[in-house]
Amino acid sequence: MSRFLKDRYAALEAYTPGEQPRDMDYIKLNTNESPYPPAPAVVAAMSGEQVENLRLYSDPTAKGLKEKLAALYGLKESNIFLSNGSDDILNFAFMAYGQNGAIFPDITYGFYPVFGDLHGVEYEEITLKEDFTINYEEYFGKNKLIVIANPNAPTGISLPLSAIEGILKSNPDGVVVIDEAYVDFGGVSCYQLIERYENLLVCRTFSKSRCLAGGRLGYAFGSPALIADLEKIKYSTNPYNINRLTLLLGEATVEAERYYQEKCAAIIETRTQTAKALEGLGFEVLPSDANFLFARHPKVGGEALYLALKEKGILVRHFRKERIKEFNRITIGTPEQMQKMIEIIKEIIQ
Ligand code: PMP
Repeated sequence: MSRFLKDRYAALEAYTPGEQPRDMDYIKLNTNESPYPPAPAVVAAMSGEQVENLRLYSDPTAKGLKEKLAALYGLKESNIFLSNGSDDILNFAFMAYGQNGAIFPDITYGFYPVFGDLHGVEYEEITLKEDFTINYEEYFGKNKLIVIANPNAPTGISLPLSAIEGILKSNPDGVVVIDEAYVDFGGVSCYQLIERYENLLVCRTFSKSRCLAGGRLGYAFGSPALIADLEKIKYSTNPYNINRLTLLLGEATVEAERYYQEKCAAIIETRTQTAKALEGLGFEVLPSDANFLFARHPKVGGEALYLALKEKGILVRHFRKERIKEFNRITIGTPEQMQKMIEIIKEIIQ
């Protein structure tokens, strides 16, 4: 750190992304990417000509992609914000709406407290219940920025729509961000509630169910007033926040909806099989609506299992936080990758 850095950033503890070691060819089950490639039409949309066009700026209004998303979800373009990955939207939400402080669960996406610290937003972390579900009534009547991942990460557990509606109703003076990064793997989206609740911002991504993590494309649904706030921040930081190639691939992705529905169904099926196999080996597996499982074994510690798997070429995500340190978060890969992992786990626990 240099002596020039502003005091307010000096003590900031940055977010740590999942590791990407290069020392061997790992089966990568640690960052919830899709094991499947983008749809063939998305791959075909890329060309030398499109690369040559990179000399031109991208469309800052992203009109083409907004039109396609609006048609797919039955919304207006004024309900849609697009960003360079959904992390950007979460960042903007803390920047824009954290005035009266924020609240989120104690066990959730690790970036929320980092954004709180980055923007000097005071936050309260509400303890998950014993069974790792969200104690939603504790969010009633707070009128602060409320951020809930649904399904939650790293647990994979969903909150029902009725609970989200309760939070929205009881917080008319606070923005409620529902982070639906994993909703396509069995959760229920609350996006239709944006018509009724001007304080609802639904945050989504092309990184998981749309097989485009490296393209960096996120989007949010909300009332036109909330979307206008985010646009204002975007135009005050980086108007061309999405590059031309990603916009192009994003449009092709929306057109290939059926392909992605099929891949989500395949991942859900593999998740069911993997959960069964892990339970058969004695694991406790939380009920997941996401493209990952959160599991612990009564005899093998979380870190020990993570390290043993890594040595055998399989990367999963381990968190050091006290309450979840015996768990590992395992991204759902292809059936073959899962089979290999189960065989290796069998060897390890023997
Ligand atoms: N929300 C949650 C809950 C996530 O796990 C992630 C991925 N790390 C994100 C948002 C951000 O995803 P992206 O920036 O790739 O859209």
